[in-house]
Amino acid sequence: MSNLSKVYPNGTIALQNVNLNIHEGEFLCFVGPSGCGKSTIFNLITGLIPPTQGVLNILGLSPKQALKQSDIAFVFQEHTLLPWRSLLDNVGLPLELRGFSKGEKKAEAERVLELVGLKDHMKSLPRELSGGMKMRVSIARALAQRPKLLLMDEPFGALDEITRQTLQDELLNIWQMDPKMTVLFITHNVFESVFLSTRVVVMTPRPGKIAATIPIPVPYPRNDSFRSDAQFSELVREVSGTLKH
Ligand code: ADP
Repeated sequence: MSNLSKVYPNGTIALQNVNLNIHEGEFLCFVGPSGCGKSTIFNLITGLIPPTQGVLNILGLSPKQALKQSDIAFVFQEHTLLPWRSLLDNVGLPLELRGFSKGEKKAEAERVLELVGLKDHMKSLPRELSGGMKMRVSIARALAQRPKLLLMDEPFGALDEITRQTLQDELLNIWQMDPKMTVLFITHNVFESVFLSTRVVVMTPRPGKIAATIPIPVPYPRNDSFRSDAQFSELVREVSGTLKH
C-alpha cells in the first residue's frame, strides 16, 4: 500500500497516506479504535471500493484481479454458513461455484475439515455445532480456496476466552503449514495481536493512519508458555501504550 487514502463521498476521511509493505507469508494484526479505517483497508484490498489516492497491489496484481483469481479468502466474526447444508457441502460451496467436480470438491472439503479437526462431523448441520466449531468450519471453507491472502475480520471476537485461545493455537498451526499464505487479521484484543502476529499494525483514530508497526520478534511455534512469558507482557504493554497515545 503506497500513499493510500480513502475519503468517502460524504467527506469522511477514513484513511490518510497509509504506507505498508506486507511480505508474503506474514501474519499481520491490525489494532485500533473503532472507526479508524481497519475495515476500509480490507474493502480496498478486495477491490470492493476504490482508493481516493494511492496504489495498492497484491503480488503485482490489482485487488480485482487478485480476487478474480481466488487468491483472497475471508473469515468474518459472524459465520455465514448455510443452515440446510452439511459441513461438507458448506465447505465445498466455493469450489462448487468455481466448477470443481463432485469428487474434487469432496476430497478438498475433507482435507480442510480434517485440518480444523472436524472431519468426523462432516455430515452434521451447522445448528448442531458450538460457536467455536462453526468458526472452524468458516476457516476450513476459506482454506478450501487455497488462498494466498487470508483476511480475517475479528473472527474470534464472539468466542469465550478458552475457545478463543484454542482457535488462536490452531490457526497458527494451519498458517505454519503453508509458508506462503499471508494472513491479515483485525482484532480489538491486544493480547491476541501479540500472540498471533509477526507484526502488529497500530492505527490512529480517524483519519486512520499507521501510528506504529511493532515487530513481534518471537519464533513460532508459539504456545501457552509464550502467553505467560515476560516478553509477552512487555510486548502487550508496548502495543497498548502506542494505542493509548
Ligand atoms: P473500523 O473498521 O476501524 O471500525 P471503518 O473502516 O469501518 O473503521 O470506518 C472508518 C470511518 O469511515 C468511520 O468513521 C466510518 O464511519 C466511516 N465509513 C465507513 N464506511 C463508510 C461509508 N460507506 N460512507 C461514509 N463513511 C464511512
